[in-house]
Amino acid sequence: MNHLPIFLDIRATRCLVVGGGEVAARKVRVLKEAGAQIVVVAPELCETLAAWKATEELTHIDRAFEPDDVAGARIVIAATNHSPTNKLVSAAATAAHIPVNVVDHPGLCTFIMPSIIDRSPVLVAVSSGGASPILARLLRARLEAVVGSAYGQLATFMARRRTLVRRHIPAADDRRHFWERILQGPVAELLLGGRTEAARALFEQELTDPDRPTLGLVSLVGAGPGDPDLLTLRALRLMQEADVIVYDRLVAPPILELCRRDAKRIDVGKSAGHHAMPQEAINQLLVDLAATGQRVVRLKGGDPFVFGRGGEEIDTLVAANTPFQVVPGITAALGCAAYGDLPLTHREYAQSCVFVAGHSQKDGLPLNWSALAQPHQTIVFYMGVSAVSTISRELIAHGLPSTTPAALVERGTTPEQRVLTGTLADLPEIVGREVVKPPTLVIIGEIVRLHARWAERTRSTPAAALRKTG
Ligand code: SAH
Repeated sequence: MNHLPIFLDIRATRCLVVGGGEVAARKVRVLKEAGAQIVVVAPELCETLAAWKATEELTHIDRAFEPDDVAGARIVIAATNHSPTNKLVSAAATAAHIPVNVVDHPGLCTFIMPSIIDRSPVLVAVSSGGASPILARLLRARLEAVVGSAYGQLATFMARRRTLVRRHIPAADDRRHFWERILQGPVAELLLGGRTEAARALFEQELTDPDRPTLGLVSLVGAGPGDPDLLTLRALRLMQEADVIVYDRLVAPPILELCRRDAKRIDVGKSAGHHAMPQEAINQLLVDLAATGQRVVRLKGGDPFVFGRGGEEIDTLVAANTPFQVVPGITAALGCAAYGDLPLTHREYAQSCVFVAGHSQKDGLPLNWSALAQPHQTIVFYMGVSAVSTISRELIAHGLPSTTPAALVERGTTPEQRVLTGTLADLPEIVGREVVKPPTLVIIGEIVRLHARWAERTRSTPAAALRKTG
């Protein structure tokens, strides 16, 4: 270890920055955030620094550096592109025993500045010891993803309760166990998910009744339409921390592979018409798993609240007083639109877009067809493949031209994606001829023209209007 990592309190202390360019401004920004009293020595200031001078956030000494400038400074930073000046600053500060950093010159530094992740009051600092600042920056980017933006709130929440906890739990060892349980359990998770009220209530319970078994948390997590790259950072973290994963058929295997290896996996898989496990049984399963203190991830295709029966699961969880959170996912319509070149709205073609469940039922589709058959509107049917004949017939009967463009997106966002386009009247025929299988989205509206137009432009093939993209 060539450096001692420390966090320095520089609030209201004089810190000297030599140099007036953008690099100096970057250093001043960090010093500002740490509350320093900043003095900048430079014959000229860039726009950013000039603005801070105008708002009196720094003091400007309007000339070239002189060795006496370092007097009384807590730290000194040189950020000029003039090598003799940098050396002079380094020598003057070192002689006065003041820590000095010269940007991009490790040899002239007595301290280096890390890349930081600021979740105040939580701070993570990363340094490569000057070996490769870029490496440190890349590492920082990875850590940014892991240390969620709510960690600061988490720390503040805990800080506010330290005295209270000390009063309730006098023994240091017991207190440590308590805090570990809080930080690794549902209270912390609820806070990270923005459910402050629920976290507060659960914290109270844990504190007043420490012997009661800790409840697990159920996270309803949207897994997106198929491409694992479309997972949210929170979804990924929860999948990697889970004790149990409860998933269904729509969750693509590459996504399951990202789950924690030793998490138990329960397939409650259902495809249209074949319910592997009835919804009521799934609801109860979630409650029972959480009651044993496990971290349960209920992984759902797309978004849990878009035709995902997430509401029914939560009804049961609420009734059983089980802590839960919902993590949104990219719903199939958004994934298929993006990967299939089908903008769902467009200033010229569609000012509204409706998501409709096209589940075929014995008595047909109980939908308000005339509300759907409106001009300038995109209609997205989920679970609509087996009902395309009804969809096509009813929309035409309720006034949409039979020539309205329509698209089918099969297994959108996966390597097997197919986009088939035609007209409202053609839909049933295309489904039959191309043997279209679920999961497929039916998208109807003028915006489908754009897909064909872009495809023609990019590939210049005459068959672009009815083509498989994959
Ligand atoms: N909660 C899910 C939808 C579940 S309903 C979501 O938000 O996406 C199941 C229907 O979603 C399927 O019948 C199909 O119409 C659609 N769907 C889901 N994933 C899809 C995909 N990768 N490509 C096309 N359609 C998909």
